[in-house]
Amino acid sequence: MFQKVLIANRGEIALRVLRACKELGIQTVVVHSTADSDAMHVRLADESVCIGPPPARESYLNIHQIVAACEITGADAVHPGYGFLSENAKFADILAAHNITFIGPSGDHIRVMGDKIEAKRTAKRLGIPVVPGSDGAISDEKEAKRVAAEIGYPVIIKASAGGGGRGMKVARTEADLEVGLHTAKSEAGAAFGDDAVYIEKYLEKPRHIELQVFGDGAGRGVHFGERDCSLQRRHQKVWEEANSPALNAEERARIGGICAKAIADLGYSGAGTIEFLYENGEFYFIEMNTRLQVEHPVTEAITGIDLVHEQIRVASGGGLSVRQEDIKFNGHAIECRINAEDPRTFTPSPGTITHFHTPGGLGVRVDSGVYSGYRIPPYYDSLIGKLIVHGRNRVECMMRLRRALDEFVVDGTKTTLPLFRDLVGNPDIANGDYDIHWLEKYLADED
Ligand code: ADP
Repeated sequence: MFQKVLIANRGEIALRVLRACKELGIQTVVVHSTADSDAMHVRLADESVCIGPPPARESYLNIHQIVAACEITGADAVHPGYGFLSENAKFADILAAHNITFIGPSGDHIRVMGDKIEAKRTAKRLGIPVVPGSDGAISDEKEAKRVAAEIGYPVIIKASAGGGGRGMKVARTEADLEVGLHTAKSEAGAAFGDDAVYIEKYLEKPRHIELQVFGDGAGRGVHFGERDCSLQRRHQKVWEEANSPALNAEERARIGGICAKAIADLGYSGAGTIEFLYENGEFYFIEMNTRLQVEHPVTEAITGIDLVHEQIRVASGGGLSVRQEDIKFNGHAIECRINAEDPRTFTPSPGTITHFHTPGGLGVRVDSGVYSGYRIPPYYDSLIGKLIVHGRNRVECMMRLRRALDEFVVDGTKTTLPLFRDLVGNPDIANGDYDIHWLEKYLADED
């Protein structure tokens, strides 16, 4: 087991990882920018190192400074959290070259999954169902038209190097395709420095369902069931559930089995998430994230397993603590992402939190790094906390969520709490009857 882990992140996830390390008796080092000197994770860590000024590229993305912080403090492993350097293959390689363990998969696995065309090809080879589409990048308009005619309109043009939902164009006709191809290529070139695009069938009303998987790096793979993250705004997840209201145990076991086997065959190490669109009973792979996800606590709530403990165990060579048959799904869990944003316009609302009171009681978990008097710096994302509620079934979970949201007080800044108070009373949400477009449509209708 590791002696000392350096946490290369901030906010709620830095605290989340710190808690897991403390439980395992591991010393913690955190790195932080000058804007985060009074952050909770800095206060609670055994050691902290200031690595630079507020802009992330000069601090949380500064590989040299982070490696230097490892050497100064004698950390033997780094947990990257999510975002920042968590899916940076070069970072994983550099740590390995310094004999510091990256708590995550190999640089090569990160690289394969970071390229969307390569990821899709790999998924297909491993027997994971993918969206019908072009076999790799599209070379010219003629090929685009041929592929689109073959799979049928509407189609979506996506950037190979894409991410964060950017650079996608939907084409409903051949004329759309001509224009879309041209814009998608130039946008991709400008945004990602790589203008390769590919085409796939556009699904009209899918749900976003993702499988939590783990590999031990030695040929064993397991799945921890799915999360339904269909409630999104601008491709950003807002509300996540486990299990999905749309799947039954049989479908879960089938897709879970496929994913676990793929992870085993790949020789993958650590936590991963295989994301699908799901429509009419079929799964279509869209991408794999090679890290811990923001929404991992809903999986922890229904399985009772600490996923960060598992990440640390696997990375230190101790293997997974569970076999597939030990993983049971109990009840239902929902997570709401609480952002310091205007609940109607979603404009960030940094500033000082004058009062912060979190709900409690059975089945209620709040993961947050903020406190009364905390000043939210304007430099980073606006997530200030996550409310995760668990119940024996979805109805009980929703009842508990409603009262937990009522108890939650954040003064001094705008938050998305009022949006969740509306959603929890909505009949479609109560019925679990929504797809990836539901929230955008709901917000547009409200205006
Ligand atoms: P990114 O890496 O940019 O987030 P993804 O491939 O994960 O891109 O897709 C992001 C979102 O775009 C999906 O969650 C979904 O809402 C939409 N999307 C992607 N592919 C399709 C598709 N074939 N049909 C319909 N919607 C899609």
